[in-house]
Amino acid sequence: MNSGKVLVGGAGGFIGGHLVADLVRKGHQDIRAVDLKPLHEWYQLSPGVENLQLDLRDLAACEQATRGALTVYNLAADMGGMGFIENNRALCMLSVLINTHLLMAARKFEAKRFFFASSACVYAAEKQVSPEVVALKESDAYPAMPEDGYGWEKLFSERMCRHFREDFGLATRVARYHNVYGPDGTYDGGREKAPAAVCRKVIQAKLAGTDEIEIWGDGNQTRSFMYIDDCLNGTKAILASDILEPINLGSNELVTINQLVDLVEEIAGSKLKRTYNLKAPKGVNGRNSDNALIQSYLGWQPSTRLRDGLEKTYRWIYDQMKKRTPKEN
Ligand code: NAD
Repeated sequence: MNSGKVLVGGAGGFIGGHLVADLVRKGHQDIRAVDLKPLHEWYQLSPGVENLQLDLRDLAACEQATRGALTVYNLAADMGGMGFIENNRALCMLSVLINTHLLMAARKFEAKRFFFASSACVYAAEKQVSPEVVALKESDAYPAMPEDGYGWEKLFSERMCRHFREDFGLATRVARYHNVYGPDGTYDGGREKAPAAVCRKVIQAKLAGTDEIEIWGDGNQTRSFMYIDDCLNGTKAILASDILEPINLGSNELVTINQLVDLVEEIAGSKLKRTYNLKAPKGVNGRNSDNALIQSYLGWQPSTRLRDGLEKTYRWIYDQMKKRTPKEN
């Protein structure tokens, strides 16, 4: 996979930016990076890469992006944490245009491999009602009742990938990411996810000299969080593999949101008074990744402990916030 043009859609975002940087570090010399955002808003810009600002909902833009690419990674989506996806269902579903048009363009220009970033939000709601979770295995996506909006788009696009493979011979690969976190991603503005949001809130309290933190939900929701390096290794391994069906890519180190806050407080050396906002978006009560399949196919398992990944994430967010004025924080 080290030769030929690689397209990374969503390269201005968190995972896309890290993927491009990783490919450059590994010696790829022909990378096209595309995002809707202007370049100055991209989290990372890597040297020697062709960076383009394009709206991948548009078929002509997808054709411009995909022309000549042997490998296509689709990491572009209009998305965010629960606060965003619960309040922007139509926008989330419109990402269907991105994947559909990228598939059509990849077929037209005869790409050899196509990767789609799906999500644990495809899993049926009835399997996630209790914090005492049974880890989700791939077959739990059906009968379908995914997260409204965002999850339906991901499930539909997974199937579109499957049918482009079956009917048109495009080699599609799909990973179901479970909560990815790390530096160089969104930590404020409404699209941030729990690990970055908790880091930001703890840092805000520290910088402002206050001692309170608001937590969304009752804090007993359970989740697992995968560090970005593990996500990248798994993504590339899935792309190169013969795994035809969507497969989990996540950590199985389960924590409650309260435990996540404990860890961040420990890193920060803070102890805050917690208030619980039961009206805020909080997602399902419990969710974990069953990694039996990916372990048996690829021997993959996450190597970064939550505490270690959070430490790096916290430090990066702290540095960003220190550069801003108190008002901006
Ligand atoms: P992100 O929001 O940081 O990156 C997505 C990028 O896509 C953004 O930079 C955005 O500007 C770009 N984009 C949106 N609409 C576009 C368009 N029309 N044309 C071109 N670019 C467009 O998100 P991320 O965390 O890097 O997620 C990457 C992918 O992984 C997404 O498909 C997401 O749904 C999926 N995913 C992420 C997580 C996670 O925890 N981060 C979990 C499950 C799935």
